Order: sequence, then C-alpha cells, then structure tokens
Amino acid sequence: MIFGRREANMFSVDELKAGFKDTFGREPFLVRAPGRVNLIGEHTDYNDGFIMPAALEYETRAAVAPRADRILRVHSAKIGETREFDLDDPAPGPKRDWTDYVFGVAVALAGAGKKLKGADILVASSVPVGSGLSSSAALEVSIGYSLLTVAGLPIDTIELAKLCQKAENEFVGMRCGIMDQFISCNGQHDHALMIDCRSLEKRPVPIDPRARIVVANSMVHHELASGEYNKRRASCEEAVHLLSPGLGPIKALRDVTPAGLEANKALLSDVTYRRARHIVTEDERVIEAADALAAGDLARCGELMNQSHASMRDDYEISCEEVDVLVDIAQRQPGVFGSRMTGGGFGGSTVSLVEAGAAEAFMENVKAAYEKATGLKSTIFACSPQQGVGPLAG
Ligand code: ADP
Ligand code: MG
Repeated sequence: MIFGRREANMFSVDELKAGFKDTFGREPFLVRAPGRVNLIGEHTDYNDGFIMPAALEYETRAAVAPRADRILRVHSAKIGETREFDLDDPAPGPKRDWTDYVFGVAVALAGAGKKLKGADILVASSVPVGSGLSSSAALEVSIGYSLLTVAGLPIDTIELAKLCQKAENEFVGMRCGIMDQFISCNGQHDHALMIDCRSLEKRPVPIDPRARIVVANSMVHHELASGEYNKRRASCEEAVHLLSPGLGPIKALRDVTPAGLEANKALLSDVTYRRARHIVTEDERVIEAADALAAGDLARCGELMNQSHASMRDDYEISCEEVDVLVDIAQRQPGVFGSRMTGGGFGGSTVSLVEAGAAEAFMENVKAAYEKATGLKSTIFACSPQQGVGPLAG
C-alpha cells in the first residue's frame, strides 16, 4: 500500500488520483463533501428546530471507480487501512470502528431501495476528527454520493442527507440530528443556511463582507461526547412527554415557546427544565440571528452567539473548561461581535464573528492567549462557506 497515512493536510487532486492508481490500479472519478461550522442553533436539529450552519473548506475527498462484482472496498488515508464489505451480506452489522460510517451508508441506501454496485473508494479528509466540524458527516456524504454515482442513480441531496443521518443513527448508534449531513449535502458558497429542521426548508443568509467567520479548535475532545449527546436527546423527549398535559399535542420542543415553558415549569425537574430552556430559547436566537445577519446587524448577531454559548454552558451543560476559556478569550478581543462553542460539545471548536479588518490580529491574539492559559496550541482559521457535496474538478 503506497498511499500512506496522513492526518491534517488536504490531498491534492493529483495526489489522490496517483494514490488511487497505486492502490487499486485504475483511473478514478473524484467527489468532495465538506465539513461544517454551525453559527448558531446547537442541539436544536433533533428537536425539529432551527439551525444556521455553513459548509467549510475542510472536506473529505473520495476517489472512486466501479467494480464488476458486489464488493465495496474502501481505503481511508486518515486511518491507513483498507476494508471490504459485501453488498450481498444478508445481515450486515456494525464493527464499532470507522467502517460503520462507510458501510452504514451502503446499508441505508440499499434499505431505501437503491440498487448499488461494487466500488473501490479511496477517502482522504482534511476535516479534523472529533473537533466539532463533522468529519463523520463529510465521510458519510462523500461515500453516499460516490455509491449513487457508481450505480448511475439520480442524487437528491435532501434524501441523501436523510439516509446518511439514518446510517449514523442506526448503524453507528449516534442519535444525531440532520444538521451535519444536511449542510454537507446542501451548503451554499458564501452563505450560511438557516434551516427549519421540521420542514427542511432552507434560507440562504449571505455572510456580510464586513465580517469573518473564525473557527478555533480547542484541541480537546472529551470521551463522554456521544453518550452525553444521546442523554441530552432523551431529556428533550422526556420534556415533551411531561409538558404535553400542560401544553396539549406538542410533537417536539420546537412547539414550545419560552412563555409556554415558564408557565409549565412545575411539570419538570430542574435539570429537564434547563435542558428544555436551552432548546426553546436557542430556537428564538437562531431566527433572530438569521434576520440580524441578513440585515447587516452584526452586533446583534454576535450578542445572540454569546447568549447561545452561555445557554449551552449553563443550561444544556455541553461545554467544558477549555472551550469556555477559548470563548472567554475570544469574546474579549477588539473587533469581535460574538463567540460560542460550535458542534455537539464536550470539546471541539468555537466559532466567532469578527470584524474583517480585525480578524488577523484576533486569530494571533486568541491563539497566544489560549496557549498561555491552557498550554494547548489552537488551530485557528477564517473560513468562507463552500458548496455542498459534488464532483471534484480535475
Ligand atoms: P466529528 O465531530 O469529527 O464528526 P465524530 O465522533 O462524529 O466526530 O466522528 C469521528 C469519527 O468518524 C472518527 O472516529 C472515525 O471513525 C470517522 N471518520 C471521520 N473521518 C474519517 C476518515 N477520513 N476516515 C476514516 N474514518 C473517519
Ligand atoms: Mg460527527
């Protein structure tokens, strides 16, 4: 195997093609699927609520060629491993490793009636793993798009997002909402997307040229992330169940207003109340933030991001010490409109909205102050939103 292991860097189109030829001996076609940053709206997706992510320059690239048989063979450059899967396996089950994100997608697509064909796939990704920027969805979506293309099937990016989410929910066992897969499938150049996770309607919101979106990786990832994630989801379901006698036929916390929650507070334990309060206030913040960003009110958008962080930290309890330090440092910099944790939580990255002219100094200062406070070297970059999944030119 000549195509070696590489973690952080993006493989060029030429390297990817050469690596595929070395590994599988044929000419591939290329696919790309981006990671994402969420500007605001955390854990609201699985509550049928609102989110506002954007697709990143960090992406998973797949080199792909069809096979004559029913074998799916995948090499991950990040892991440095090649694995095989038989599309005719009558009882495919998870292996509890990275391949679940790959073969889970094949199982979900086949389960939806897609007649798949065998393929060789080489994946290389610049999305850092476990950093809150969704390497898992970028991998799933790149695989799904590749498999549909090999099979000569039409691609509906909303359906693809749903099937990739199903793979992560049912095959991997992570009960994530639709956000990561949806934005990796449907991202729009230079825009964030305000998404209604009930109807899946999307509103593109242009990023004001006076502002930069700066992503900072805290470089910590706490192991409890996926277990706690599923627990938060269970708390939200419990809140809906307990609030129903007071509020009537509600389906999700999306159907609860802050006033409705306050009036029925007595139905909930303190913890469940605070979990619900994060969700119902966060939904309102997303709607207002989208309007503020669209209207050029960057200051208001930033305030809402700061409030969102406080709500994740205090009510939803999904932040951690290092991320709080990073957000705190960011919020004190000149030219910053707002800063918050982004992604599922318990580590990962932060997102800040920063005045364009102040962004360079912001990145340098935050990096230095974070290292001084924690000893950790944050990777910080200003991003410009990208298109969702598609063929990679070259
Ligand atoms: P993230 O926030 O990055 O999505 P997750 O825990 O949801 O974090 O997913 C990370 C997991 O996804 C990794 O542990 C690995 O199993 C899988 N993964 C992501 N990208 C790749 C890749 N390029 N090759 C192999 N596995 C990957
Ligand atoms: Mg993930």
